[in-house]
Amino acid sequence: MTSVYISLGSNLCGPESQLSKAVAALEQLQQTRIERISSIYRSAAVGPGAQPDYLNIVLLLATNLSPIALLDATQQIELDQGRVRNIRWGARTLDIDLLLYGDLLIDSLRLTVPHPRMKQRNFVLYPLREISDTNLVLPDGSDLDTLLLQCSELDLIRTEHPPLINEYSPSG
Ligand code: ATP
Ligand code: CA
Ligand code: CA
Repeated sequence: MTSVYISLGSNLCGPESQLSKAVAALEQLQQTRIERISSIYRSAAVGPGAQPDYLNIVLLLATNLSPIALLDATQQIELDQGRVRNIRWGARTLDIDLLLYGDLLIDSLRLTVPHPRMKQRNFVLYPLREISDTNLVLPDGSDLDTLLLQCSELDLIRTEHPPLINEYSPSG
């Protein structure tokens, strides 16, 4: 199985329940299991116009799905939760981005991995650090601890919300 990090974000229609619904849907994915899940982080929206705050989490998955099959599955979950694609970076019920897929570098029409904007996003990097045991090294050789030094934690709030799944249970 391949280790895959994904990020989930929501700022519409009950963001916290959108995230738990999405986690439940990801738990049902074939050939995939959820290994780790971060706390929920709150941050101000960056994008066009005034928007509600975002809630974000990062998950570690172990999967046998190919990158494109995983993208298809996560886009289907977005649609199931009422995602409407209109304004770029507009408010949304659910956004799922593939951050890292093992050590793969992917640059295709539908998919770029590592996610091209992850290195500048505190709502991605801080939760990612929370769920990785070691200083993650990205396929381009950059490492998470160095990226974090260059990325302000300003306006990012790790919330008191309980974890979305009971507990990380290591399996055999
Ligand atoms: P951003 O990518 O800056 O976070 P966004 O998440 O709002 O913006 P979307 O509208 O959700 O962007 O996605 C636009 C397209 O990006 C998707 O249709 C998908 O094909 C493509 N895409 C490319 N790389 C990735 C990736 N690593 N994860 C998810 N989608 C990706
Ligand atoms: Ca995104
Ligand atoms: Ca996206």
